[in-house]
Amino acid sequence: MRNFDIIVVGGGHAGIEASIAATQMGCSVGLVTMDKNAIGRMSCNPAIGGSAKGHLVHEVDALGGFMGVIADKTGIQFRILNKSKGPAVWAGRCQSDRKLYSQEAVHLTSSFSNLEVIEDSILGILEENKSVTGVKTQSGKEFKCKAIIICSGTFLNGLMHTGLSSEKGGRFGEKPATGLTESLINMGFISGRLKTGTPPRLKKDSINWEILEKQNGDENPKPFSLRTDKNQFPFLPQISCYITYTDRVVHSILEKGFDKSPMFTGLIEGVGPRYCPSIEDKIVRFSEKERHQLFLEPEGLDSDQIYLNGFSTSLPAEIQAEAIQKIKGLENVEMVRAGYAVEYDYFPPYQVDLSLETKLITGLYFAGQINGTSGYEEAAGQGIVAGINAALKIQKRPEFILKRSESYIGVLIDDLVSKSTKEPYRMFTSRAEHRLLLRQDNVDRRLLKYGYEFGLISKELYNEMKERESFISIGKELLSQTKILPNQINQLLESKNLSEIENAETIDKLAKRPGLSLKEILILVDQKESMVYNNLIDKNELLEQLEVEIKYEGYIKRQEDLVIKTEKLEEMLIPLNFNYNNLKTISTEGREKLSKIRPHSIGQATRISGVTPSDISVLLVYLKS
Ligand SMILES: Cc1cc2nc3c(=O)[nH]c(=O)nc-3n(C[C@H](O)[C@H](O)[C@H](O)COP(=O)(O)OP(=O)(O)OC[C@H]3O[C@@H](n4cnc5c(N)ncnc54)[C@H](O)[C@@H]3O)c2cc1C
Repeated sequence: MRNFDIIVVGGGHAGIEASIAATQMGCSVGLVTMDKNAIGRMSCNPAIGGSAKGHLVHEVDALGGFMGVIADKTGIQFRILNKSKGPAVWAGRCQSDRKLYSQEAVHLTSSFSNLEVIEDSILGILEENKSVTGVKTQSGKEFKCKAIIICSGTFLNGLMHTGLSSEKGGRFGEKPATGLTESLINMGFISGRLKTGTPPRLKKDSINWEILEKQNGDENPKPFSLRTDKNQFPFLPQISCYITYTDRVVHSILEKGFDKSPMFTGLIEGVGPRYCPSIEDKIVRFSEKERHQLFLEPEGLDSDQIYLNGFSTSLPAEIQAEAIQKIKGLENVEMVRAGYAVEYDYFPPYQVDLSLETKLITGLYFAGQINGTSGYEEAAGQGIVAGINAALKIQKRPEFILKRSESYIGVLIDDLVSKSTKEPYRMFTSRAEHRLLLRQDNVDRRLLKYGYEFGLISKELYNEMKERESFISIGKELLSQTKILPNQINQLLESKNLSEIENAETIDKLAKRPGLSLKEILILVDQKESMVYNNLIDKNELLEQLEVEIKYEGYIKRQEDLVIKTEKLEEMLIPLNFNYNNLKTISTEGREKLSKIRPHSIGQATRISGVTPSDISVLLVYLKS
């Protein structure tokens, strides 16, 4: 029987990060996946990042993961979203070449000597005394291992729907995974059913591009990864996307199909994503809206298919085709493939702990869609954490838990474990209470230390971050000491309709003013001091970071103070085997929820819905005594 340290089940976005992290930490890894050539396949939209999801990609990258590296190599349009809003919500997004993305992932996973990709399907988990011992596969093989990470995506008992017809499958053209859900249920796990959907694909040449609104990428695109060579970036020619809209006519055609909709006839039992609704869902939920925006996104440089973003649907194919032809620019469009919905099994995530290890079986980890999330980036974030933790467990080292105050990945996992989820969970910046501290620009200063500690980030990259860190702190100090005279700056202030100054003021104070950039002020500094400031001005990206820290200093400080206060509760650990039945005066609901979720700390306990402040007080008194 073959023997591995770790078996990773599934070569999707979670499985890629989990298997590479674990192998780079010195473990032998078997990545068992149903189709070797489908590793890293994008099931839905050919894009990485976006609001809050871009933050996740940067965080995975800073920990030493590969989603950003692959996205940079295969991106065909890069944009920073939300640039008109505050820096906390700026987010990178790229349009990807779907085929090249997957090819790059296949190539990457085959390039590690201690990582073996095995094409098979896992039917069951083997365990002894509640600890994993191995897996058995559909082709009749058994592999021994010390840890297993299940990253099965939308494949567990997957069922695809278009109109009233349904077909078994994990996604278009791929079989479902059977047997594994049942094996987990037999071990005592509870499963649930979720659904997600995808829009139709259109033939590129059949679209009237001339009359559509164009959306270009950024003029100076920025890569996701700290490891991407900026001199070579972007690697591929860049393309434009296009925008169009539905209207009342389109809506009324779609409504004709509602009596054959698997969503409205009850054929689909799984709960769908509230924040990524299908077009039929949007028509019902936002009936007052005259139109919905749609994006026409190329699937790749040499692909003849276009992804109709915003038009996810499982209505009958003929209704989809009829409605689409009433959309501006799509009058003569050819639908290459109809949209569909997929239902699949997931395991409500209160069953894992903050390291993503299951509470029931030692050495068994869940990551990605199986935990109820939706999205490539959410999957990758969990994948790398599960991979690191499985390796740490085998090496008998302490587990790795990211805090809510230091990362979106920490927020994601804490939300999943503490609140669980009954509908597909996607990340939003609003889910993070400390979002001003969790910016894309400071991700290296937040997380690179962990990637370095686990051997996933090179010393060179770590040292570069240290240099940037000291540059910013020296810069802040310098700017708080250097004064500008009224005669140096008043002309600029007047030209911007800003109130002039009467006495000399420090640069950092001036830079806090809205409408005034740090660069504009630095240009005015005395020539004799220009050496230092030219150095600052030249380092464009660092200057941006410095500016953010200066402009938002007050808010950042307030959030940091809050973190210090709440951190005390996070540091008050609760023993995992704590018996909540000993707490006589606690509420019944509180006892039930605490026993089910078994929080890691008092801080986590406070976030469990149904646990009241008085339950927490009782718990605190008991733990202190
Ligand atoms: C139709 C459709 C529409 C979607 N729409 C959206 C959307 O609008 N927005 C969004 O954010 N996300 C959407 N998604 C979800 C997105 O694809 C997933 O969130 C993401 O891919 C999850 O990553 P993952 O690594 O968990 O799993 P996946 O990327 O699904 O990968 C799972 C992998 O596991 C393998 N596998 C499964 N079971 C076994 C087994 N027993 N043995 C061996 N291998 C196994 C599969 O072969 C596959 O390689 C959609 C998915 C589908 C299918």
